[in-house]
Amino acid sequence: MNAPLIDPFARAITYLRVSVTDRCDFRCVYCMSENMTFLPKKELLTLEELDRMCSTFVGLGVEKLRITGGEPLVRKGIMTFFQSMSRHLDAGTLKELTLTTNGSQLERFAADLYAAGVRRVNVSLDTLDEQKFADITRWGRLPQVLRGIDAALAVGMRVKLNAVALKNFNEDELPTITEWCAARGVDLTWIEVMPMGDIGNEDRLDQYWSLKDVRARYAEHYTVTDLAERTGGPARYVRLEETGQKIGFITPLSHNFCESCNRVRLTCTGELFMCLGQEDAADLRAPLRAHPEDDAPLQEAIRAAIARKPKGHDFDYSRQRLDGQMPRHMSHTGG
Ligand code: SAM
Ligand code: SF4
Repeated sequence: MNAPLIDPFARAITYLRVSVTDRCDFRCVYCMSENMTFLPKKELLTLEELDRMCSTFVGLGVEKLRITGGEPLVRKGIMTFFQSMSRHLDAGTLKELTLTTNGSQLERFAADLYAAGVRRVNVSLDTLDEQKFADITRWGRLPQVLRGIDAALAVGMRVKLNAVALKNFNEDELPTITEWCAARGVDLTWIEVMPMGDIGNEDRLDQYWSLKDVRARYAEHYTVTDLAERTGGPARYVRLEETGQKIGFITPLSHNFCESCNRVRLTCTGELFMCLGQEDAADLRAPLRAHPEDDAPLQEAIRAAIARKPKGHDFDYSRQRLDGQMPRHMSHTGG
């Protein structure tokens, strides 16, 4: 019954990303429009339902949980969920509990997260310039995020910065951001902007800064060595010989990483997306709510969904139009 989740392409599914809310206290221009309509509360999985859902996945062999959103730390009561998930870490069934956050609430929650067993956090930050930060996030304030990062480091968490590479925006900050990370022992990954959701009149092809060009920019400042290491995800790594830093590149559009994909994504309404770049999703909320005392129908629905996991995604910028563009927002599926 509890055999591990293996998809039709022999990939073991051991990594679940969970969006716990579609709401956010920022409005990053590449992610959301200024006026977003959010889901009514009854559509969302309650914290207890999220717990049951995640625990069922852990029972089926999921070893890594990444909590995301929207902004996960603005979900009311979310610390109770983290505390409750830590029982799977204590039991040894879950190997890692982590989150991706914009950092705005980290100062407040870093110690509680650490106490719940969170040892690593990804913070999304695209610029170290206060005005530019306010411009790109619309509602965010840089000093608050920097205090959050300091708090996470102070409690002993490993911090990784995720920066979206944006043309004419943070191109010139590459050495500054890199050195800032080196000075704090913070890891750094660059992400290519992806065609997700309707975000108003921002033109994505204008924003697109290829990571090939980011790498070339690094080579102007440092000796860059490509590393063979992969983590089952879309990241590739290089080492900067001068600083010893390992820099990640997430290039979902220009390279195919699908053959080693070990992850699925759960939305805050209980839909399971088997691939970030495909529309197919399975409704797990229905079997969860229909059988409050019995997990077997939910387990069956999860297995049926994994059996439909596609081989790969269809994004393609190459013909200068947004082939494979997804109507969903990243904040819905969780980045
Ligand atoms: N609010 C949290 C945060 O910002 O880290 C978690 C959710 S956010 C949707 C997750 C990640 O998706 C962030 O690193 C963000 O920069 C990234 N993201 C959002 N929209 C994107 C897009 N269109 N292309 C590439 N990355 C995007
Ligand atoms: Fe919010 Fe994260 Fe989207 Fe920015 S990227 S609007 S912080 S969900």
